[in-house]
Amino acid sequence: IPLKNYRNFIIVAHVDHGKSTLSDRLLELTGVVNPTVDNKQVLDKLDVERERGITVKAQTVSMIYNYKGEDYMFHLVDSPGHVDFRLEVVRSYASCQGALLLVDASEGIKAQTVANFYIAYSMNLHLIPIINKIDLDTADINRAEEQIEETFELFRDDIVHVSAKTGLNVKYILPKIIENIPPPNEDKYHREKPLRAQIVDSWYDSYVGVIMLVNVVDGKIKKGDKVEFCQSGEKYDIKEVGIMYPDRRELPELVAGQVAYVIPGFKDANKVSVGDTLRKVGSKVEALAGFEEPKPMVFVGAFPADGTDFKKMEESLQHLFLNDRSVVFQRTTSNALGQGWKLGFLGSLHSSIFKERLEKEHGKNLIITAPTVPYKVKFKDGSEKIIINPDEFPDGTKKSQVIELSEPYVEALMTFPKEYTGAVMTLCENNRGMNNELQYLSNGQTLMKCLIPTAHLIDDFVGKLKGVTRGYASLDYEDGGYYLSDIYKMELLVNGENIDALSTVLHKSQIEKCGREFVSRLKNFLRIEQFEVIIQARANGRIIARETIKARRKDVLAKLHASDISRRKKLLAKQKAGKSQLQSVGRVAIKGEAFQAFLRRD
Ligand code: GDP
Ligand code: MG
Repeated sequence: IPLKNYRNFIIVAHVDHGKSTLSDRLLELTGVVNPTVDNKQVLDKLDVERERGITVKAQTVSMIYNYKGEDYMFHLVDSPGHVDFRLEVVRSYASCQGALLLVDASEGIKAQTVANFYIAYSMNLHLIPIINKIDLDTADINRAEEQIEETFELFRDDIVHVSAKTGLNVKYILPKIIENIPPPNEDKYHREKPLRAQIVDSWYDSYVGVIMLVNVVDGKIKKGDKVEFCQSGEKYDIKEVGIMYPDRRELPELVAGQVAYVIPGFKDANKVSVGDTLRKVGSKVEALAGFEEPKPMVFVGAFPADGTDFKKMEESLQHLFLNDRSVVFQRTTSNALGQGWKLGFLGSLHSSIFKERLEKEHGKNLIITAPTVPYKVKFKDGSEKIIINPDEFPDGTKKSQVIELSEPYVEALMTFPKEYTGAVMTLCENNRGMNNELQYLSNGQTLMKCLIPTAHLIDDFVGKLKGVTRGYASLDYEDGGYYLSDIYKMELLVNGENIDALSTVLHKSQIEKCGREFVSRLKNFLRIEQFEVIIQARANGRIIARETIKARRKDVLAKLHASDISRRKKLLAKQKAGKSQLQSVGRVAIKGEAFQAFLRRD
């Protein structure tokens, strides 16, 4: 099939608007899957992965379609819809020339439709607007058309009306793909040139090892070829190439314009770096421009609870993160919790997926600290530091070296029924939102843009937004950059000693309230000791809040007869053994359960 008959595209849609269902119908129409069997979302390895908590991978499926006597090769590239995975979205869009923009007829356009549209539009993809679910009683096709016209500036006449569920009109999409989406550009893709293939994604398969999804830009690649990774210089013999149809289907060779898989024949997933270029060994061609590296936005500390084996836990965590190298994973130590790990995630969805999974698998054995965002500190000597551990946030004497403190923001994109506009604006204000922009859509919906500190986004902003809109709002976001901020480190002290793992960075406006709340909550989880325990919150060198736990005399030895020496020794030894498992702060031994209870906020 000549290059001019290739079409590489994606489907852009808000969650539940029918992307997976439409993919299934397209695969049936092109004979990739048999319509008689119950095709439940062939491409939805994605959702399964999401459930399992592994990073959402780009998927691709190829189709061959005969139109006016000619064969066409389609590559439908599926990508994670959520903007936590924005860079993965961008990567998969990069191998496409067009997009199907899918909108639910009863819901109209939503935050995720808009966010993904912006990405597709900025990458010059040709768009085919589609209204789905026209079979529903609640479908309002007219309204959806109006929205598509005014928000995306696409023509009403170009919109295809379908029901992905019943299959109605889906067949009209295929000719549109051929006519409206251009083939891979001949200025960029060359079959006759020496091989250059960009790695779009990779994953691990327990049978064949690492599998890479590649976008073949120049030349050809086949089994037995000796190839080299431009970045690392490592060389391998290709074991297999092919297309996803919908599962792996081996082909004699791949050619420029294809988005397909390559098996390099090794097991170590760390050897592959997404964005890198493959070329033939000995070839001097230049590497393709790489992709931007994903930047973690949310960090938590994780510590084994009392009596849990560090090594075993570490192995188990490493295994969990094997297929997701966007997770940052490094060792750290805490005065109260001992040795543990710092984990970094791409965004709030990404971190909650893993948190849920960690809790399910390790429950009581793992203590996870409150999430934090990367703060930026600029020092007088001109140096800059990104702080991901709140306890390292400068205060006291270190603070005098600082000239600028800033915190990350996201640009939130929200849609909700117009009557909630006031409530949402108040919510944004209370969360230190700024630069509000409003647009009223034709179906009584409001589209609102707002800059919000990432720290608030990850503090269940979505939950609060749903709360004030009775569940009707949807939110998406993109990186909003750093802004100067009046932020301080807040510490929790027990008998004057800081519990490092519980330090947080807070905006000035939150310090009083949080300080009081943290102190009174922590009090509930500490034991009564034989001495007075004082709990304090301190910020900027000042004590914000204080609670005292009165001493209780509970002498294990009191009841014993003084001469009962051996019994006495035994008891003391027992007490000591019990203690040695616990870390203590300010002479107060704090049990892992106490931390867990304190950190569990729901
Ligand atoms: P995705 O999240 O965009 O992949 O959406 P899905 O394809 O999983 O569809 C979400 C839900 O909408 C499923 O329950 C589908 O059965 C349903 N759905 C998809 N297309 C249609 C349609 O054309 N009509 C109706 N009535 N339901 C649909
Ligand atoms: Mg889906």
